[in-house]
Amino acid sequence: MSNIAPLRTFVSAFSALLDQTADEAQILEKGGALLANLVAQDTWLPEQLAQPDPDRYQQFLLHADSGGRFSVVSFVWGPGQSTPVHDHTVWGLIGMLRGAEYSQGFSREEGGKLVPDGKAILLKPGQVEAVSPAIGDIHKVSNAYPDQVSVSIHVYGANIGAVNRSVYRDDGTIAEFISGYSNDWIPNIWNQSKP
Ligand code: FE
Repeated sequence: MSNIAPLRTFVSAFSALLDQTADEAQILEKGGALLANLVAQDTWLPEQLAQPDPDRYQQFLLHADSGGRFSVVSFVWGPGQSTPVHDHTVWGLIGMLRGAEYSQGFSREEGGKLVPDGKAILLKPGQVEAVSPAIGDIHKVSNAYPDQVSVSIHVYGANIGAVNRSVYRDDGTIAEFISGYSNDWIPNIWNQSKP
């Protein structure tokens, strides 16, 4: 049984940060530090919310702010799994908990052509990356390992599973999607009677 207290502490601190500021740069800097602290230890994520699926990567909702200001999600990458090229439309923070992943950013040229933004970033446990429409919002994420599971913890500036977003296909077409979540229940982070 994992001790989920670090997630509770993180959610409370992130909520307090958003009480203080709506400035995206501040949120990404200070929230990124909070997330780095959360993923510095891999002791708290319930095993059920770290389970890969053989067919596709999983996104498990861990917490959604009642005001829709942020959500926290565990992404579980089976061996070799990856996302399509996609956007977020809101700010996002990605913290690596277990394993490693590549994030390849893209820019859209006039006419819609996608151009890679340099080389892919390799995220290792404890590291944090940010995305947003202001700093670069289109990327493709891949498990860096062909033979092991990787897990990253993401925070977004909305209930991300309900946000209308876009996937950018190789043939230049764009498909809208709403990701939803892989889980029907969320962990109880509020039971403080447990040690
Ligand atoms: Fe993403």
